[in-house]
Formats: sequence, structure tokens, C-alpha cells
Amino acid sequence: MADFKLFEYQEEVVERALRRENIIIWLPTGGGKTRAAVYVAKNHLETTPRAKVMVLVNKVHLVDQHYNKEFKPYLGRDYTLTPVSGESEEKDFFGKVVQDSDVIICTAQILYNALTNEEESKHVELSDITLLIIDECHHTHKDSVYNKVMACYVEKKLKGERPLPQILGLTASPGTGGARILETAVEHVLQICANMDSAIVSTKNYVSELKKKVPRPIKTFDIVEKRLQDPFGDHLKCMMQMIHDYMDLPSDFRLRECGTQEYEADVVILNQRGIRQDNRLVAECALHLRQYNDALLINDTLRMMDAYRSLEEFYNKPTTKLDGTDYFLEALFQENQVELKTLARDSRYENPKMGKLESTLLEQFGPGVESRGILFSKTRKSIHCLNDWVLTNEALQEAGIEAAILTGAGNGITYMTQNEQAETIRNFREGKLNLLISTSVAEEGLDIPECNLVVRYGLLTNEIAQQQASGRARAKDSRYSVVAQSGGRELRRELTNEYLEELTGKAIAKVQDMSLHKFRTKITELQEEAVIGRKIAESRKTEKRSRNTADSVQLLCRNCFRSVASGSDIKLLEKAHYVNINPEFRNYYKVGGQVMLGRTFEDWEPGRTVSCRNCDKDWGFEMKYKKAAVLPNLAIKNLALETPDGRTTVKKWKDVPFTVDDFSFDDYCKDNFPDLFD
Ligand SMILES: [Zn+2]
Repeated sequence: MADFKLFEYQEEVVERALRRENIIIWLPTGGGKTRAAVYVAKNHLETTPRAKVMVLVNKVHLVDQHYNKEFKPYLGRDYTLTPVSGESEEKDFFGKVVQDSDVIICTAQILYNALTNEEESKHVELSDITLLIIDECHHTHKDSVYNKVMACYVEKKLKGERPLPQILGLTASPGTGGARILETAVEHVLQICANMDSAIVSTKNYVSELKKKVPRPIKTFDIVEKRLQDPFGDHLKCMMQMIHDYMDLPSDFRLRECGTQEYEADVVILNQRGIRQDNRLVAECALHLRQYNDALLINDTLRMMDAYRSLEEFYNKPTTKLDGTDYFLEALFQENQVELKTLARDSRYENPKMGKLESTLLEQFGPGVESRGILFSKTRKSIHCLNDWVLTNEALQEAGIEAAILTGAGNGITYMTQNEQAETIRNFREGKLNLLISTSVAEEGLDIPECNLVVRYGLLTNEIAQQQASGRARAKDSRYSVVAQSGGRELRRELTNEYLEELTGKAIAKVQDMSLHKFRTKITELQEEAVIGRKIAESRKTEKRSRNTADSVQLLCRNCFRSVASGSDIKLLEKAHYVNINPEFRNYYKVGGQVMLGRTFEDWEPGRTVSCRNCDKDWGFEMKYKKAAVLPNLAIKNLALETPDGRTTVKKWKDVPFTVDDFSFDDYCKDNFPDLFD
């Protein structure tokens, strides 16, 4: 077994956990939280009869990472450890797996499903677990899965039901939950403590040892002035004005400044309003304005050509023109396309931030220089553009930069698979790559080797993500650079986040200074409030869902407003997929190319894309279920709802104002293949 010794600050923070108290360990990124948790688990297994340790993580890749790097090396010899991710077969016999293992590492969703599943082979009770470890536990908040698991715990605790597992949370920062003043930040920390039913613990006696172990990078602000002239952006704004004039903006509606996040929020609302009022002119113009605004936002962070291409891509999609609005919008782009492209190519007006980013990178990279960096940007789109920029930039290529993209593992087409992710990180570790271009969200908890350069580019995140990013620069004399526009939003946010990080520290100190009695009383109070709050929310939801019968609601195509299905055609498959089971529905859609998801599923595989037969609007894709049923899986964001109370739109299926019944494969077969059942 691997040698097992904790640093003194780690020993200090696990002390209360060893005394079986519920605690949250607060240590910075790179401080060895997971190692501390393994230590607690080992001690727990050695001293507890019928011990059962469960480790919850919030991202699939962390299951294997924690298993291989931390838990197995230290516990694998003496105990049975089982990693269970959404992709492994163990999840189908999860109840059995929990019975047969000493330590289970899984995503929180798997445990939550098991807590609520009544089938014996899949069911698990909280009382089966003796130690529950929650990684990145600052996510135990509001409607997160972590909080759903902990809500089950808290409810049992308040009812006096025992036994319950010991809780051990791990976090690099609980954050302030949006609070800007100490008092509300304290409330937030207390809320997390209440949700976790835990006290929060940090090192008091070994602060300097911790600082030595986890050095902070040197932070620099690489500031650029706003460009004086921006003919490309001006031209886009001019086109937007023409759309404003054409659509005859409702007199009570004000749009904020073009090229801002606020404007985006406004046109989203405008689009919904157009749909509700059966006004295609407003709905479609708002949809296109959002694309133009997106181009302006890209123009602010990336190359002009990236902004141009995002628009071009949007207009290149084949669509059927239904009315004058479609003709106007299409013609507007076509008439201006050449001009826009010419302006985008004019390097005199190129985004100065890109030049600054280039010089920042060149200061750390060069022929013969060993450097390793991560460049963080906001969206998957922007990191793809940045990657393309690095690959085509001569100076950066001469400096020996070998870059690759790192995005989150997920189901969508633009996500990476877990294997691709692992390979990219391996190449980075081995030095075949020296620059990762990543979204801030993708890297939380990833085992990325020490870097000497972290650049945050065009990013607006909260203080937690910012702190985790800076924690990546751990090599000696490393640099953390913020490339931003003078007086711009990113810079303001960065400074705000620094302040919030400090505020988080102060809030935690306040909570730690509370007397045990006062802390416990407050925690119980917050827990009781949460239980009542959840009950009220639940009854509201039920009330909303029972407002209409499923067959009184019609589903409309969100683009052409044609009625295409009844609410009662929709069924919920495996608690996750909303599918249309009516065979007649086939007459309303056409199919496109085969969908590739880069991973496999137990009972189904993706088929072809599905779009509106009338107007080409994308709707979703076909699922082939158990090799027998072809079920169109529809995204509600592409549909509108006609209810007895009027037309409406929702973002998620779970918000529709009627009850969606569960899909039954038996019923489906009886309806569609009656001969087999004679
Ligand atoms: Zn349509």
C-alpha cells in the first residue's frame, strides 16, 4: 500500500471528522482535500462495524479519477472498492453493489435515483451508508442533486430517524452565493452548513505551512484600451437598427444597448412574447437580433472573422421561408454579406485584446522554453475560435505552442467523451501539448498537472470558478493573467471576485466563531425552513401540472406555429427523455442525418435528426429504444404550447403545465405490434 502521511494542516482539518462529527473541509485547490478524505475513510473503515463509505462526485470523470488516484492506492488492498458512473453496468444493480462493497464512488445522481427507486435490486437507504463523502460540496445548494440527497438526510434527521451516515464535505470555496456584504455572506455559509448538516473546518495553526505547500501565482492584469474605431461592429449595429425599424417594436418595450448581455435578455423575452401573441414578425426578428447581438459579443472578445462566421453559419442553415419576415431577414443579411466580410478582414480594426493575448502567451512561451499553460474562456464556441487562432498564428506557432481544446464530458455533439478528455490531459502531462484551451466549467476537479501560466480571457464567472482557475497555476513562479479591456466588465468582475473571495473567508471565520449552541440552533432553524419551503414548492408544482389535462394542450412548432402534437402524445422515458409515441406524428416531421453521441446507452441508441416538415425547424432526434421502437425525442425549446389559458413557452419539459405520464414499453408494444399479443 502507498505510503500514507498527512501534512500537519491536513491532520488539523480532519480531527473532528475522526471524532465522527459532520464537517466540511475547506482547503484551497491543490491543498489535498481528497487525500484528507481518504484518510478519514480509512480510519472509519478500521474502526466502524459494518462500515459503508460512499463518495459522491458531481462530474462523471471524477469517479474514475478519485478511484484510481486516491482511494484505490490507499484502500484497495484491504477493502472492496467499486466505482460506478452513469456509463457502467453496475448502476443497474446499484443496491447489490452497495451491499457487496466497502467503498462506493459514484455521481450524486446515481445515489439519488437509488434512494427514490423502489425496485429491490436498485434501492438504497441512507441508513445503509455509514460515511458519506461529498466532493465539491459548495454545490449542495438549492435544486442541485447534492442538495436533493441531503434533503432526504435532513428530513430524516429532523424526524429523529436513525441511523444516518456521518457527513464529510470537501470544498475549495463555499462562495458567497451572490452576497456582497458580510451579513448575507454569513447567511450563505450557514445555509451550506445547514444543507450539509455540518460545521465548516479550516486550518488555524498551520496557515503558513499550507501557504508554502500551495503557493499563489503572481497575478497580472494585462489591460487593453477599447478600440477607437470599429467599423465592423458599427455595421452590425446598423443592420440591427434596420430590423428594429422593420419589426415595429411594441411601444411598451425597451431594448437595452446592443452588444450587451442585457440586450440578449431583452430579445429572449421579446421572442417569447411574439410567440405568445401569435406574432411571427416579432418572434422571428427577436430570434435573429439575438444572433446579431451574439456576433457583437464575439467581436468584443475574439476576431472579427469569428463574429462574421457565427452569423454566416446561422444564415447558411437551410430553412423554408414562410412569409415576408423570413424574406426580409434573409435579404438583409445577403445584401450586407460582402461588405461585412470585407470589414471583418480589415486587420487595422482587429480586436486589440487578441494582440494582448498573443503578447501574454509569447512572454511565457518560446523556442526551448518549457512552459505549460491553460487558457480559460467562456463558451465552447469561443474556445474553438481561440484554438483556431493559435493554430493559424505564425508567432505563436514559432514559439512552439502546441494547443488543444478541453471541454466538459457530456452527451452533446460539441462535448468531448471521457476518453478524449483523458487523452488530452495525458498528452499535456507528457508534454506533447503545452497549452490547454478550456471552459472554466470543464475543468473543475480535473486532475491537471501544475501550470506556470493561467490566462483568463473574456470571462465572467463567479468567485468560486475564479479561485479554482488561479489554483491551477501551482508551478514555481507561476503567473495568473487576466486579459481584459480597460474599465470593461471582465475586469470589474475579476476585482469583485477578489473582494468576494476575501468576504467568503471573513464569513467562514464568523461562522466558526459562533458558539456551538448558537450554531446548532441556527442550523436546525434553517433546516426546518428548508423542509417547509420544499413542501410548498412541491405542492405548487403539482398544482401547476394538474391545471390542464394532457390532451387539452397542443404542441406547436416554435417557428411556424403549426400544431403538431397533443400533450397526451408525450411520454417520459426512463425519467429523462420526453418522446412522442403517436405513430401519426411521423407525418409532421422529416428526418436528417444520423446523430452521433460518442458514447453508448443501455437501452437505446440515437437515430436521425428530426425537423418540422412544414418549415425545417430542428426539433430533436429519433431514439431507437430496445431495438424495437423509434421514438422522436423532442426538445421543448423548439416547441410552443397552446393551452386552454392561451399560448405559452417553457424552457424545460418539467415546467409544462400538464402531467406527462411515464412511457410503458409493454403498452407501446401492445399498441404497435398487436399481433404479437394475440
Ligand atoms: Zn415548423
